Amino acid sequence: QILDGEKLRKKLHNTILELKGNIRVFCRVRPVLSNESGAVTYPKSGENIGRGIELIHNAQEYSFTFDKVFDHSASQEDVFIEISQLVQSALDGYKVCIFAYGQTGSGKTHTMMGNPEVEEQKGMIPRSLEQIFQASQVLNSQGWKYKMQASMLEIYNETIRDLLSTNRVATQDGGSSKYNIKHDANGNTHVSDLTVVNVTSISEVSSLLRRAAQSRSVGRTQMNEESSRSHCVFTLRIFGVNEGTDQQVQGVLNLIDLAGSERLNKSGATGDRLKETQAINKSLSSLSDVIFSIAKKEEHVPFRNSKLTYLLQPCLGGDSKTLMFVNLSPETSSTAESLCSLRFAARVNSCEIGIPRRQTQMRNSQ
Ligand code: ADP
Ligand code: MG
Repeated sequence: QILDGEKLRKKLHNTILELKGNIRVFCRVRPVLSNESGAVTYPKSGENIGRGIELIHNAQEYSFTFDKVFDHSASQEDVFIEISQLVQSALDGYKVCIFAYGQTGSGKTHTMMGNPEVEEQKGMIPRSLEQIFQASQVLNSQGWKYKMQASMLEIYNETIRDLLSTNRVATQDGGSSKYNIKHDANGNTHVSDLTVVNVTSISEVSSLLRRAAQSRSVGRTQMNEESSRSHCVFTLRIFGVNEGTDQQVQGVLNLIDLAGSERLNKSGATGDRLKETQAINKSLSSLSDVIFSIAKKEEHVPFRNSKLTYLLQPCLGGDSKTLMFVNLSPETSSTAESLCSLRFAARVNSCEIGIPRRQTQMRNSQ
């Protein structure tokens, strides 16, 4: 009888996965930092790694369910274990996008990049690369030969900046003629003038990540631009050919650290700041529009509404796979933003099951 119940549960789970298609949403609550005051309430998730999350805002309780919810105690490794299969599928020829969404300070960069130099602080990007290299070596013995190319760019105010360029001058003005995005008939994306690095070893990857981190911070001081106001897109293209069978695969792994989702104080935003905010809001809402529209199998998907969605067009929809991390801060002062993030996530999450949005977005418990 227990077996029957278990079987039924599995079947139900598989049916839900089928209906949901290739979009997953994971939620991660970061721990309290040492410099944070006492005004801290964790959104409750109940388990280190669970599925439900509860948040109290203005004395109202909201609860949400996602594919996975990580509480403050989940390590980088705990999180990576849950995405490693998805990462692996890029080697099998799938196009994969992994996003981190949330307000500034909620842990997006920690989740995606972390500190690549410290083992337990390594984020999803360094861990994914390590896994891909290790797995490709195993597949080598089965006749598979792989070529990998990495690029890393930033989208700020709808303008692309190359994070791997060795030419600083060129990276500083992303003039309108540079970095044009083109998709070819095979579903490959080309960004003109963007640095593409062939990576053949793990050690090359670490120096590459260091270079990217450096140029991200150079941009910040020289252009007075905060990295939190831009999207950062890391792309690894994987070309595999089996020398025995001539079989070929082309996979892509995109890891995207999105711009901070916080709404700016309306009265405070003018001039450049206002333009910046509008650009961020536009591209984040375009992203959810695109995911929603793909899920509803609409004929017209509004990819062209933002640089980010246009860049990722071939990697969204079809049989590609998407994972959205929603990062949350535990501070009481963040509950309004956390609620916004959870609602965004609920929209992304519920889209494929075809349930009317309003019903799935939140449930006020009495
Ligand atoms: P964001 O990129 O969303 O602005 P960060 O990733 O920079 O946020 O995180 C803000 C701060 O919190 C950083 O100091 C970061 O090291 C720390 N932090 C975030 N998530 C965690 C975590 N899971 N464990 C420990 N520290 C974290
Ligand atoms: Mg960040």
